Amino acid sequence: MRKVAKIVLSKSPFSKTEPQTLIEKYGKYIKFDPDINQIRMYTDIPEYHEFLLEVRANLLRISQGFELEYSKEDYDRASYFILGSLRLVDSVYEDEPEALYVRRCTRCNVYIDQKQDLIIKKKTFRPKMVAMTWEEELIVSPDVKSLIEENGWEHVEFRPVFNKVKKTSPIAYQLIVTHILPPIHAKTELNRVAPCPSCHFKSFRLTPEHAMYYAQEEIDQFADFNRTFEYFGSGFFPRPYVIVSKKVRDCFLKHQIRDATFEPIFFC
Ligand SMILES: [Zn+2]
Repeated sequence: MRKVAKIVLSKSPFSKTEPQTLIEKYGKYIKFDPDINQIRMYTDIPEYHEFLLEVRANLLRISQGFELEYSKEDYDRASYFILGSLRLVDSVYEDEPEALYVRRCTRCNVYIDQKQDLIIKKKTFRPKMVAMTWEEELIVSPDVKSLIEENGWEHVEFRPVFNKVKKTSPIAYQLIVTHILPPIHAKTELNRVAPCPSCHFKSFRLTPEHAMYYAQEEIDQFADFNRTFEYFGSGFFPRPYVIVSKKVRDCFLKHQIRDATFEPIFFC
């Protein structure tokens, strides 16, 4: 895996050059997207550090974020993956999470325990699809539910998802993963979200530039569907990550399931 810097340069009144001059000079080492004014550059090359020195010397303003880019070998070698989706679907209850969840505590507004089935705004839900709802829940189309059932994978249950019009038959299914993994290995760089002073609920942020690790000796505790022991996220809806086996990923790829993302996890 390689770490990629996502850089935005801008001018200050004191800048000695234009951002464009540096973008052209380092053209060989960067990818520049003019639509979002973003430079992408690997952080493990000497030119990255030279570039940063030049940015400073020229008094340009810089903002930087990072992400990991996994190699084909990372994917080929991994036996487990974080399942996600880039497809976000809106909820009918965006302003009233209390309609769906039990309010955990009056201080932190964290919603975990679900008391009602999800209702999404989308009128239709395409087949062969995985999506993420406003409440940070993974949902799948009915044919993906059947695919999971046909494979006999354990520790995953389904909760119906409705839309406002069709309240009688589900248009999708929420994945309820029941198998909880041991805590993540300390090598994973977790940022802790300040715990609630009242209910002491703990949550973390997995920074996008760090991979997730588990201890090698715990690998036999993994099933085809798993959820992390830890909760992630700082808003209303902290959630565990869903981790699936290579078997599940291979099956989803073979059946061309849309919008599912798989991020390899590592053992150490
Ligand atoms: Zn609380």
